[in-house]
Amino acid sequence: MSSIQTTVLSNYVNGKIMQKFIFVTGGVVSSLGKGIASASIGALLQARGFKVRIRKLDPYLNIDPGTMSPHQHGEVFVTEDGAETDLDLGHYERFLGVHPHKTDSISGGRIYYNVLTKERRGDYLGATVQSIPHITDEIKRFISSDLTDEDFVICEIGGTVGDIEGLIFLEAIRQFANDVGRENTLFVHLTLLPYIKAAGELKTKPSQHSIKILLEAGIQADIILCRSAMMMSDAEREKIALFCNLRPEDVIVALNLDNIYKIPLAYHKEGLDERVLYHFGMLDKAKVPDYSKWEKVEKALASPKGEVTIGIVGKYCGLQDAYKSLNEALFHAGLANQVKVKIKWIEAETLEGVSDEEVAEKLSEADGILVPGGFGYRGVEGKIRAAKYARENKVPYLGICLGMQIAAIEIARDVLGIKDANSTEFTKDCTPIIALMSEWEQDGKKQIRGENANKGGTLRLGAYPCKIKAGTLAHKIYGADEISERHRHRYEMDIRFEDDFAKHGVVISGKSPDGVLPEILEITDHPFFIAGQFHPEFKSTPFEGHKLFKSFIAAVKK
Ligand code: GLN
Repeated sequence: MSSIQTTVLSNYVNGKIMQKFIFVTGGVVSSLGKGIASASIGALLQARGFKVRIRKLDPYLNIDPGTMSPHQHGEVFVTEDGAETDLDLGHYERFLGVHPHKTDSISGGRIYYNVLTKERRGDYLGATVQSIPHITDEIKRFISSDLTDEDFVICEIGGTVGDIEGLIFLEAIRQFANDVGRENTLFVHLTLLPYIKAAGELKTKPSQHSIKILLEAGIQADIILCRSAMMMSDAEREKIALFCNLRPEDVIVALNLDNIYKIPLAYHKEGLDERVLYHFGMLDKAKVPDYSKWEKVEKALASPKGEVTIGIVGKYCGLQDAYKSLNEALFHAGLANQVKVKIKWIEAETLEGVSDEEVAEKLSEADGILVPGGFGYRGVEGKIRAAKYARENKVPYLGICLGMQIAAIEIARDVLGIKDANSTEFTKDCTPIIALMSEWEQDGKKQIRGENANKGGTLRLGAYPCKIKAGTLAHKIYGADEISERHRHRYEMDIRFEDDFAKHGVVISGKSPDGVLPEILEITDHPFFIAGQFHPEFKSTPFEGHKLFKSFIAAVKK
């Protein structure tokens, strides 16, 4: 038996690992909503009084998604402790209201990297380093690491069963179930029931095959979630149960719904949480479920009283997942304000090289303008024109990260008259309003971020405190002297321009506690023009909404 098996097993026997483990895999096709299913299981268990942790294991070979294009991979979600993770961690946080940690996301690349680093260091004492046990041990170590008093640990396995790079993960969770005991493990598998019009029926064969692939890896699913456009019949349910070694009650339909926040209650109505608890023999340990916060969201969904249009001027407009948390935060703010938020995507580049009238025309439909985060020069001049339009026409403006930097550049150019104001990210030949701080303090240590540093890992990442100036819009919005928000950027606004900006009614209303880094900028003589160096969207939930987004939508509503 390999070392980790012994450790995991003995920890369990000694009562050190108290948790029940739920593994969520997906089959047939991707994009069926495994992340939402995992988050929903978590939410339902949480509603019954249990403490839940959710983790994502992605088989791909990037070390983390930090350097992956949002076009391909969707948004990079940032945790409080500064990990760049998969966007599913955003769902986990929005559904559970619990901040995920660095230790809740791992990729195949990181697993192999860890093992190979140990191999180079000589940690394996000359042994032949192999997929089994060394890679599988590393995966199992991740699954059981950094746990405290959680009742349940839900692990979502990225990809689709049958993917070659995912095989080693299936092997690892198979072993893990043996290590900690099958009674402490639950395998949930999400598949698709396609509706074939000509036959007039839902087809169960792809699901049968998918379960078979799992079986080949030594895993018998305990619950199958069948994504479907319509309710399945009893006959279909029984057929799936028969072919997949399941009880009919463990065949659960996952109906297509028009909103993701309806999914937890829909799963509950299908009996999912009950089946999970039944499997673990824990029904009697569950508290009387409290779904009130989900019911409240459902009610809010049903009763919007109006509609507002937010123009998002960005450069990944083709792919909604690239701005996942942002979409959700706007949606939450709409719920809180009882309005439907319609998003009009405006490709920043279409605002370049055109007349002011055309810019106004393109933005005229928007009741409010939002410039989100972004990297690289493409589209920047278009974003600058959008900020200028919002400033001059007193249209509510919310700038996020790059959206703050471009607002600062625009104001510097147009209001302060610094014609060559820019960010050194885009050109070295400029008056740098935005620049790399080659040194700054973190945990009391000077950090060096050079111009030529590695692209991955040189960012200011994760939660940082921000002091808010009294009497400002920011202070009114947050109702606090100090806040904490999450960052993901390399460049900073140069604080030495603060006084020049102030002379023109532009206030740095939020700063790092040492006063060195501008964090929030706002225009005094404007109904709502505010921009932050951070990403507030990561912390918004459907239950509350985020203060900054709520007040933006409230201003737009006016
Ligand atoms: N590109 C900018 C920077 O690196 C902004 C990043 C962002 O918007 N997340 O500082």
